[in-house]
This record gives sequence, structure tokens and C-alpha cells, in this order.
Amino acid sequence: MEQIVQTRSVPVMGSYDVVVCGGGPGGWVAAVAAARAGARTALVERYGFVGGMATAALVVPISVFTYNGQLVCGGIPWEFVQRMVEADGAEVEHPLGNISHDPECYKLIAQRMLLESGVDLHFHAVLTGCVREDSRITHVILDTKSGPRALEAKYVIDSTGDGDLCAMAGVPMQENTMPLQPPSLCFCIGGVDTDALELIHHEKQGLNYHNLRVQTKLRELAETEDVPVFGGPWFCSIHRDGRVMVNMTRTPADMLDPAQATRAECRLREDVHAFVALLKKYFPEFKNAELLFTAAQTGVRETRHIKGEHVLTGEEYLNAVHFEDAVSRGAHPIDIHTAGDTTQKCQFLKNAAYIPYRSLIVPGFDNLLVAGRCFSADQVASASVRVQASVMGLGQAAGCAAAQCACAGTSVHKADVHTLQAMLRKWGALI
Ligand SMILES: Cc1cc2nc3c(=O)[nH]c(=O)nc-3n(C[C@H](O)[C@H](O)[C@H](O)COP(=O)(O)OP(=O)(O)OC[C@H]3O[C@@H](n4cnc5c(N)ncnc54)[C@H](O)[C@@H]3O)c2cc1C
Repeated sequence: MEQIVQTRSVPVMGSYDVVVCGGGPGGWVAAVAAARAGARTALVERYGFVGGMATAALVVPISVFTYNGQLVCGGIPWEFVQRMVEADGAEVEHPLGNISHDPECYKLIAQRMLLESGVDLHFHAVLTGCVREDSRITHVILDTKSGPRALEAKYVIDSTGDGDLCAMAGVPMQENTMPLQPPSLCFCIGGVDTDALELIHHEKQGLNYHNLRVQTKLRELAETEDVPVFGGPWFCSIHRDGRVMVNMTRTPADMLDPAQATRAECRLREDVHAFVALLKKYFPEFKNAELLFTAAQTGVRETRHIKGEHVLTGEEYLNAVHFEDAVSRGAHPIDIHTAGDTTQKCQFLKNAAYIPYRSLIVPGFDNLLVAGRCFSADQVASASVRVQASVMGLGQAAGCAAAQCACAGTSVHKADVHTLQAMLRKWGALI
């Protein structure tokens, strides 16, 4: 490809103790945690709302807060769930602690928690670069409608999901040894007989929870007619008023590659319409259904995994190894979706697992933390931690650690982990 060189001067529009890049479940919770721990905090987000996959991609189940009925992901994430329940925007499915939510309520409650905590929001700002001086990232560079802007940062948290900031700063990435999990375009349909439809209910520990009846029938139909590749399907409806959120499309794609991402968006949009037609034709509860809207973006399950101070392995995770520097927990199964067919490999945990602080930091980087699905884990451990409750737990830990390091003026590698754990426990984390 032809290369051009561009130099430009960039106005610095703010200076912060902590700048969090990306406002998904990991990022917005990290920003609240950093601000509540006393740091002057900014949150950068390319959309005009937070929630990441939970809102922009209509991933409406938040998995999973409890193990055997016991809360394992406490603190700010659980406070958020309770506030959504109070606002009639979420339902806790017992005993697994899976949460079905209304994405509009999610956006509003998360935004309120951010503003109440004193976080400066920088929406409609796309992270496009950073300035690195030796072991520190001193500025993040944002593209805005007014042109490029910089934010000066004492500490930065990469919560872009894809590890964009890490990639820009030259953080080493792991080689993926398994195929990437597929992206999916979720959608909302109306006019469904929700009383007759089996919804997502994760009340059965150790069992999978997709709609087996619809899955079996679609597999049969695939032998005689054109049925696109599907997963699940998973149906979610908190108000049972005929509106149902559907997760069933999938296609293989590396969503970091713009050509593949474009192809995936177009393929999956065709598939959404094909599935709505199939559901209407073959399933009585969908007889009067109509497509209301698709998600703003195709949901991305997996891209980069950084190589951090510690790479959390599937073996450690499945054995629930208790790390001395544990800062968060995970209780969701190892949940691997196959890209090219309808299968999903689920391995259920024998105990709720632990995530060490060292998998949020990177050798050679003194002021960088990573809170989100791109944190330092192999593809097996990551296939569990990637879900929202555990990612929020990473955010809570990273935000608190960044604020404490900013206050003490230390490298993230010299963080006082006992003080960090004490603050997290005070907030309600069960580590
Ligand atoms: C189809 C699908 C189904 C899933 N099902 C479930 C489920 O049932 N239960 C569950 O709990 N989880 C589920 N997940 C997983 C979960 O939604 C994600 O792993 C989780 O949202 C990851 O959180 P994150 O904060 O790391 O990243 P994301 O949610 O991806 O958030 C990243 C945020 O950063 C922003 N951003 C990214 N790049 C930039 C940039 N360069 N500049 C500015 N902003 C940027 C994005 O706009 C976004 O807001 C599913 C995921 C998918 C795709």
C-alpha cells in the first residue's frame, strides 16, 4: 500500500490523572471507579453513549454475577444492576445472576453514575493515536468533528475492547492459536407472542440456555432450504410486551480488518432479514412478528489479546487458582462460539475463578492498565472473562488501581496491591 507522512499540531484540550479509552462495560466502570477513588478522570468514547456491546450491539444479557446463587461480582457493577432493576430496566435471573436489561435504561443509568462521580465525558471522540515517552503514554490523540485533539494523562486505561490504545503504543499481542469467535448482528423484533416463547433463563446451573426447540427445527429446515449459519438462538424480553431481542446470526470475520468487517456487516444484515422471515413462517409465536431495528454495530466477541505481566491461562482459571493479587472474579462458563457452524463449546466452572492484577498491566509500561476483553489471558480463560460482569470487575479494579497510583505517584508495577484490594473489598468486591 502507498504510504504518506503527515505531521500536524494537535490542541491539548485537557489534562487528567486518569484517561479511560472506551466506554463499554470495562471502560465506564473503570472511569467511575477512578473518579470515586479521587482521580480527575476523563472517559473517551466514539459513540454518544456508553455500554459498548451491551448497548451499541444489543447484547442484552449481562453474564454472570453469581456462582451457585452466591454473588461473586460485587461493588460498582452490582450497584449498577440494582439501579437498573429499580428503574424497571433489568431483571435478575436467579440463581445464576444473569441480567437481562433494556439498553436504553443501561445508557441512562451508566451515564448518571459517570456524571455523579465527576467523570468528564468526551463523546464522539475516536482514539486514533497516542504519544509515548519511554515507558509512559503521555497523551491520547482523538479525532473529533473539530479536528484532532489531545488529552494529557498521568495514567491511561485501554477499554476499547480491541486493545486499540495498546496496539498504538506498541504493546505486544498474543498469537491466537484458535479461530476467532464470530461476530453477530443482534436485532429487535416486535409483535411476538412473548407468553408462548421460551426466553433466556439461566436458572439451570451447568446447562446451556439457548432455545433448543427453535434450534432443532432450524437445523431440520437447513436440510431442505436456505438457512443462514446461526448460533443459539437466544431470545430476551424483559417487558414481555411483544418486543424480543434476538441473538442468532454469525459469520467468520476478523473485525479488525475493515474489508472483512464490511463484508460481515452486509452478510449479517441479509441474514437478519432471512431469519425474521423464517421465524414468521415456521414458528407460531412469531407469526405476527416484524423487524423493528438492528444493532448500531455488529457485536464483536474476540479480536486482540494483549501480552501482559501475567497471561491468565484456561487451566488456572478452570482450577480457580487464588492469586495473591486477585482483583476480580469470573463465574461464566468457558464459552466458545464456532464461527462457521451453529455449535458452541461450553465448559462449566467447578468454582468461581479469580483474575490477577498482573493480567491488567504490561511489562515496560508504567502508566497503562487494560480493562476489557482484550486483557492478558489465553483464548480459553478469555472465553469466560469476556462476558460483562467479569469485564466490569476488571474495570473496577483498573480504575481504582490507576487512581491509587496517581495519588501515590507510582508506576502501575509498584501499586500497593493490598491497599487496592482493601478499597475494592470496601466497595463490595468479593476477591
Ligand atoms: C453477539 C455477542 C453476544 C454476547 N453475549 C453475551 C452475553 O450473553 N452475556 C455477556 O455478559 N456478554 C456477552 N457478550 C460479551 C460482551 O458483550 C463483551 O465481551 C463485553 O461487552 C466487552 O466489554 P469491553 O468493555 O471490553 O468492550 P466493548 O463492549 O466492546 O466496549 C468497547 C467500547 O470502546 C469504544 N471504542 C472502541 N474503540 C474505540 C476507539 N478507537 N475510540 C473511541 N472509542 C472506542 C466502543 O465504542 C465501546 O463503547 C457477547 C458479545 C457479543 C458480540
